Amino acid sequence: MTLLTVSKLSKSYDGKNVVNDVSFEFQSGKCIALIGPNGAGKTTILRTLAGLLKPSAGMIRFSGISESDDIRKYIGYLPQYPVFHTWMTGMEFMVYSGRLSYLSEAESKKRAETLLEKVGIIDAKNRRIGKYSGGMKQRLGIAQAIIHKPKLLILDEPVSSLDPFGRREVLTLMKELKEEMTILFSTHILSDAEEISDDLLLLNKGEIVEKGSIIDLRKKYQTSIIMLEFTEDVEKYQGKVNTLTSVRNSFIERDVLHVS
Ligand code: ADP
Repeated sequence: MTLLTVSKLSKSYDGKNVVNDVSFEFQSGKCIALIGPNGAGKTTILRTLAGLLKPSAGMIRFSGISESDDIRKYIGYLPQYPVFHTWMTGMEFMVYSGRLSYLSEAESKKRAETLLEKVGIIDAKNRRIGKYSGGMKQRLGIAQAIIHKPKLLILDEPVSSLDPFGRREVLTLMKELKEEMTILFSTHILSDAEEISDDLLLLNKGEIVEKGSIIDLRKKYQTSIIMLEFTEDVEKYQGKVNTLTSVRNSFIERDVLHVS
């Protein structure tokens, strides 16, 4: 079932378009990676989908949700740089988040227990967030984002600020969660997208330049290796992402996104 349809979405700041005529849709239960270099417009798209920014043009439709409804009830969103109340314990923060999402105190506590267990930080529930590692904070961030059982979980660069250990923790958690919910996350790391997502949306300079699964892209470009190269030089590539480049006789997948 189609969960989300985005048609001709554009967003400008001060008259300058940073997201330009973007269209895509995705199915319920899928995990989609929005991948592109810094400044491509990933955060802008995610914030717009999350109902935090108003599109300049275009349409976003969630199936089963009327246009007059507040979309934020159905979306869980973790920003790239989440702000935690570090003096609170993990449990307090979860209950606070539940209350912000209009859950009762009792329900917030119940959900908090379940989710802190699910994300693997239940043992630290009474510890102050200020004492959490980066990976633990991010897992808490994901737990609070789903406290109200959203239809879609949006994660903006969920692992980019983490050390290797924290990254692994969060990627593992995302793999588990994707079995249970629809996830859209942004990244600039191809291997993260490949590890977690079913489908990719490649974004460059505010435009979707490719979409599909890695398998589809491999078939399309007849390559076993996918290397994404984005370029600043729009004219050279007619505004398209450069290419998915084949590297002969090698089966090591490269984790690169060149921004030249
Ligand atoms: P990404 O998440 O891919 O790094 P962003 O969506 O953050 O991209 O930014 C896309 C472009 O929009 C960048 O050029 C950025 O400088 C610009 N931008 C983002 N937010 C604002 C804002 N609030 N005001 C003006 N320009 C912005």
